[in-house]
Amino acid sequence: MIVETINLTRVYRLGSSEIRALRGVSLGVEEGTFTTILGPSGSGKSTLLHLIGLLDRPTSGRVLFRGRDTSLLSDGERRRLRLRSIGFIFQTFNLLPTLTALENVELPMALARVSPQEQRRRAIRLLEEVGLGDRLHHRPSKLSVGEMQRVAVARALANGPSLIIADEPTGELDSKTGEEVLRLLRGLCEERGVTVLMATHDERAARLSDRTYRLLDGVLQG
Ligand code: ADP
Ligand code: MG
Repeated sequence: MIVETINLTRVYRLGSSEIRALRGVSLGVEEGTFTTILGPSGSGKSTLLHLIGLLDRPTSGRVLFRGRDTSLLSDGERRRLRLRSIGFIFQTFNLLPTLTALENVELPMALARVSPQEQRRRAIRLLEEVGLGDRLHHRPSKLSVGEMQRVAVARALANGPSLIIADEPTGELDSKTGEEVLRLLRGLCEERGVTVLMATHDERAARLSDRTYRLLDGVLQG
């Protein structure tokens, strides 16, 4: 198991009101699989992925990464684990508009103190791998949305993560482009042995996954 969550809860406090976004979620993600969290808008998918991706801390419960209890790690240790082992893909890509495709992919490597020559070498290879070898010097505004999401996939792979977390990665894409991104993610499992954990509200997007968890109002179903 690469990730296990144990009875995770997350309560957001807004003034005097409380939103219980997760109400005790326990799940496991097998190494090397494509696992999907399927649920409607507001069911807690992003909250869950942020906790698993160590971007947020739970109100109660635990996230184990390869059996290690991440709640025992310092913020610095969590940041290092995230940088080395986890890649993120977002619905709206989150590319930096002033950087080229190449520079966007190099950025996480710069944060991990990879040498500039090695950054360039790896970024070119990753962009070629996602079919963008002819778009290296384009800025996001010159790319189609499908190309932007492929740059984001290459960026997520920059530091050789074992886990890719994709939050509604096809949400902004038409069905054909979305299908291409799903196949790309599926290929990461099969060819690189990367574990992919994806959230979606789209029943069809879950088709290519090995395992699907259904989330509703912060509770896993079934
Ligand atoms: P999903 O990704 O499935 O749409 P979210 O995890 O974004 O669900 O949201 C789950 C619930 O938590 C929703 O009711 C949402 O409004 C609420 N929520 C999410 N993030 C915050 C936040 N930062 N502050 C307050 N409420 C939030
Ligand atoms: Mg969401």
